[in-house]
Amino acid sequence: MSMQYERFLSKTAANLAPSGIRKFFDLAATMENVISLGVGEPDFITPWNIREHAIEAIQDGYTSYTANAGLLELREEISNYLDKRFNVKYAADDQIIVTVGASQSIDLAFRAILNPGDEVLIIEPAFVSYSALVTLAGGIPVPIATSAENGFAVTPEQIEAAITDRTKAILLCSPNNPTGTCLNREALTAISQIIIKNDLLVVSDEIYAELSYDGDFTSMSAIPGMYERTILINGFSKGFAMTGWRLGFLAAPRELIQVMVKIYQYTTMCAPHMLQRGALEALRNSRDQVENMRQHYWRRRNFTVQALNQIGLHCHTPGGAFYVFPSIQKTGLTSDEFAERLLLEERVAVVPGNAFGESGEGYVRLSYATSIDHLQEAMNRMDRFVKKLEGTHHT
Ligand code: PMP
Repeated sequence: MSMQYERFLSKTAANLAPSGIRKFFDLAATMENVISLGVGEPDFITPWNIREHAIEAIQDGYTSYTANAGLLELREEISNYLDKRFNVKYAADDQIIVTVGASQSIDLAFRAILNPGDEVLIIEPAFVSYSALVTLAGGIPVPIATSAENGFAVTPEQIEAAITDRTKAILLCSPNNPTGTCLNREALTAISQIIIKNDLLVVSDEIYAELSYDGDFTSMSAIPGMYERTILINGFSKGFAMTGWRLGFLAAPRELIQVMVKIYQYTTMCAPHMLQRGALEALRNSRDQVENMRQHYWRRRNFTVQALNQIGLHCHTPGGAFYVFPSIQKTGLTSDEFAERLLLEERVAVVPGNAFGESGEGYVRLSYATSIDHLQEAMNRMDRFVKKLEGTHHT
């Protein structure tokens, strides 16, 4: 007799929608000659000096647990890094936690601040994890839809209109996944006034901070009045090309960190010791490599935006991250249809925009974290695909 598991499962967990990003990759994995612009990760291997340090750490026997919040030495480097790069000051001993990827930082933040029914505002299109993590922490995700007309930037008015007496926090992600949109100092300042007026917190996902192309990146925490209200999320995955290391960090006011460390103590204990040692090298001696990768992304962004606009798939020039989010509306296809047919007919994998929320319908996400040669070939294929669609429209 087969077991019926439904009654054993948590309803909240069982009812979570599966991530729309993975859907096409399983299909793409069964096909040959596919160019994937689907996954959101660097094509670079972690710089050698960082890898070498982790190897040495294993050889030298750094195999034990570390402090729950991470190696103090690493937290000191993170503290210096945040100060030097973003002009925000956090104490190494009680304001920083080293986590298992930025993903876990976001999870910790929501678990620490949400009571059942608390609302969190999420600017869409958004990274797929946010609403799921809010829901798992007992909160209610409240989407705010942005549009291409204002470059997918949220306005203070939109935020104000979405606030209720249950609103506790807002999740901001700049540079953004999937749109690449950056909120500059002026935009952040305008938003901060609404946050302060309504006594809210900001969970600020700054994982793409190193990948910013038009002027300096500004951290929400550096905006006057926001240090006390910001849970700053960052990590090594994107800028340092260290996705598989699973190392992120968060910085926040002490009272919040104390509660987050408690959760972390019980759920995870600490991030891997030897990898934390590698991360020390990332912060101490990898500035040139990080800058070099950024320059590559910058060239690829320019190339891709220009090619897409020539093809007629209009997109704004995103200020950061490694994504473009072109409109596919002129093709008359839905995002799902476009992505599926592009994969099957031309073997290019992209992610349908509606995977990032309803307001992403009519768009697709392309990651340009791949070589110019690959991008060139992908653009040729997309051009052929769009021309073919136009041909069938006219007949
Ligand atoms: N935030 C955003 C916006 C992301 O795009 C990602 C990774 N795709 C993460 C967080 C998670 O990063 P990590 O690999 O450090 O968990």
